[in-house]
Amino acid sequence: MPAVRNALIWDTGRDRAEYGDIVIKDGYISSVTAPKEAEGPILYDCKGRCLVLPGLVNAHTHVSMTLLRGLGEELPLMEWLQKKIFPIEDRLTAQNIRSGADLAVMEMIAAGVTCFADMYYFMDEVAKSVLESGMRAALCRGLPGDNADKLAENLALAEAYNGREGRITVQLGPHAIYTVPRPALERIVAAARDKNLGIHFHWLETKGELDSLRNEHKIEPADYLESTGLLGVKELILAHCVWHPTDQLSAVARDNVTFVHNPKSNMKLGSGYAPLKEFISSGVRVALGTDGAASNNRLDMWDETRFAALLHKGYNLDPTVAGAREILKMATVNGSYGTGFRDAGFIKAGRRADMVIVDMDNPRYVGCDPGNVPEFVVYAGSSRDVRATIVDGKILYKDGEFMTLDSEKILAAASRDRGSLTR
Ligand SMILES: [Zn+2]
Repeated sequence: MPAVRNALIWDTGRDRAEYGDIVIKDGYISSVTAPKEAEGPILYDCKGRCLVLPGLVNAHTHVSMTLLRGLGEELPLMEWLQKKIFPIEDRLTAQNIRSGADLAVMEMIAAGVTCFADMYYFMDEVAKSVLESGMRAALCRGLPGDNADKLAENLALAEAYNGREGRITVQLGPHAIYTVPRPALERIVAAARDKNLGIHFHWLETKGELDSLRNEHKIEPADYLESTGLLGVKELILAHCVWHPTDQLSAVARDNVTFVHNPKSNMKLGSGYAPLKEFISSGVRVALGTDGAASNNRLDMWDETRFAALLHKGYNLDPTVAGAREILKMATVNGSYGTGFRDAGFIKAGRRADMVIVDMDNPRYVGCDPGNVPEFVVYAGSSRDVRATIVDGKILYKDGEFMTLDSEKILAAASRDRGSLTR
């Protein structure tokens, strides 16, 4: 059986990293042995100089927005959406969605991301990109307004792709409270329950959303989530949560609910600081995401982990908040659970063989030892150190080369489509 050999292995289940071989069978880790003991073919030889971590999960993004990167910079959220983003989104074709998704998948694979959660449209194209690239994803069709045709499209996406090759889960995607009237949201929740699907929803990204719940809907956020039935769906992915009140966290500290923290997008759009310290202490599962490339502008989870760890220390005037181990838990296993892949997220027998191999033979890792791996990864590490990305035991990226993608073709198609959209 193929093995990743002689690696320094760390996941959130370990206090200290350990050297070992990771043996893979049928897409799963079958055992972790002492270093250089595994027999059979070598999938990647770490030679004692590479770290292996569980694959990173980008738990909220809009991959095809890579084509919109750099447009409408430094505008307030609603002005940015209405003046710059929505008019171009109205013109996006299925082909544009595919070339943008391929571009994002290429960027993420090279940075050790093995799974992402996406909300957009023409999602069949994103699904094809996922299947061909070898990545894993949680997909939903964004559902703004009250539109039965779009909901039918989302349900057809689920019918076609939910569970496909064990690498795709499908959720329903009501866009946000400012675009979806409550009766429409309730119909989406009923459909999710009927089909046993999860929901992926933008939740209280801006203060205006909290104000409108209180002033127009006359309801508190936790009561809204409860009374609409959202809390009862299979997996509820709530993106942003910047303005979720800290006295209403017990309602969302549930096994089926995941808050996705998107700190760089929230800072760039001036949306505010999510109270991460309180989320963590209340037992809410928190994952990390980049949001779309038009508001980040990177799809780089290394960048996101470092930024999250630093931001909340500064905001709380407390260096013990958002520790490196907690942040990596958010970026790995919490993202896996939130996106519906509960058998991923750890480097141990019985888990899916999703991992990132990181070069320690470089200046940033001098001083890294089995006792301080997460701190080196979060504070000193960089996506530039990624040597290989593996999903289901298959190498998607190795030593600068894409094994499943034609990178030149993807760059050419994306450049052509970007040019045609902004001409
Ligand atoms: Zn978003």
